[in-house]
Amino acid sequence: MDKDNIIVLGGAGYIGSHTCLRLSEEGYTPIVVDNLSRGYAEAVQWGPLEKADILDTLSLTEIFKKYKPLAVIHFAALIEVGESVKDPTSFWKNNVVGALSVLEAMKVAGVKNIVFSSTAAVYGQPDTEEPLGEDSSLDPINPYGQTKLAAERMIRDHESFGIKSVCLRYFNACGADPEGRVGEMHNPETHLIPLVVQTALGLRQQISIFGTDYPTADGTCVRDYVHVLDLADAHIKAVEHLTGGGETFVCNLGTGSGYSVREIINAVKEMSGNRDFEVLETDRRSGDQAFLVADNKHAQKILGWQPTSGLEENIRTALKFHSSDKYRNFWKNR
Ligand code: UDP
Repeated sequence: MDKDNIIVLGGAGYIGSHTCLRLSEEGYTPIVVDNLSRGYAEAVQWGPLEKADILDTLSLTEIFKKYKPLAVIHFAALIEVGESVKDPTSFWKNNVVGALSVLEAMKVAGVKNIVFSSTAAVYGQPDTEEPLGEDSSLDPINPYGQTKLAAERMIRDHESFGIKSVCLRYFNACGADPEGRVGEMHNPETHLIPLVVQTALGLRQQISIFGTDYPTADGTCVRDYVHVLDLADAHIKAVEHLTGGGETFVCNLGTGSGYSVREIINAVKEMSGNRDFEVLETDRRSGDQAFLVADNKHAQKILGWQPTSGLEENIRTALKFHSSDKYRNFWKNR
C-alpha cells in the first residue's frame, strides 16, 4: 500500500493520536509535529515526531518541505473553555496567530490541503433544543469559540492562494482506542467523561456538576458525545475529499443525540458496576452553553461519514483505558 505523508499538527494529543492510529491503518504515514506542551511523546506511535511549535513558521516550513505532505491536519490548539475565559491572550496567540503561521508555512512549502479542528463552541448560545446545523448563528460565548471561529475564517480566506480546507466542528470527543494503545490523557483533566470515569474507578474523590439551573430537562448541560475514533475517521475522509478534488467546506461532527451531565454520571455509575461515588452540585462554570447537539447531515452527505459508536461504547472504552496498567504507569513514571 502507498505510504503518503500527512502532517499532523498536535498529533501527540488526544484526537491527534487517535487520528494517527487510523491514518496508519489506512496506509498513510502520519508525521507528528507537536511542541509537547499538552501532548505526550508516548502517544506518537505510528510515524516520526518532529518537536516544533506552530508559532515557529520557519521550522514548520522546513518540516513541510522535508516531508512533502498530501495534507496538513491541524489539531494543535488550546481547548479548554474555562482556561480560555481566564487567559484569552494565550488562546488568541496559539489558536489564531498559530493557525496563521501554519497557513504561511503551507504557502511557502506549497501544501494545498488543510483539515482544521474546529468546535461546536462557535455556535454561541442556541435558544432552541434542536440539533444545530452549520447555518446556525455563529456567536461564540467564550474566547475558545471566538478563536476557533476566527481561525476558520482565516483559513477559508487563504483559498486565494489555492489552499483548500475542511473545518470540522467537533462536538464532545470522548472514548479511547478499544485496544488501549492511546486514550484521553489531559493534565489537568477538565472533561466530563474522563472525570466521572476516574471518580468511579476511585482515582478521584468526587465529581462536581457545574450548574443545575440550565433551561434543560434536568437542569444540567446537554452535550453530544462522539467517539474519538469516529472523529479520526472523519479526518481521513476529509483528507481524501480534498485530495480527490473536493471543495472547501465546514461541517459538524456529532452523533445527533444529546445527554445531560446527570445522564452521563448515571451511565458511568451503571457501567462501572454501580460503584457509589460522591456527586456535588456546584455553580455554573463560566462560558458553558446549555445545549449543544449536532445536526450531522452535512458530514453524512459530503463525507459519507456516520458515527459508529454510541454512549455505551464511548464509556466502555474510556473505562477500559483509565483502568489499564498503561494509564496508571504513565502517570507514575512522570
Ligand atoms: N462538567 C461538569 N463537571 C465537570 C466537568 C464538566 O459538570 O467536572 C460539565 C460542563 O459544565 C459541561 C459538560 O460537563 O456542561 C461537558 O463539559 P466538558 O468540559 O467535558 O466539555 P465542553 O462541552 O466544555 O467542551
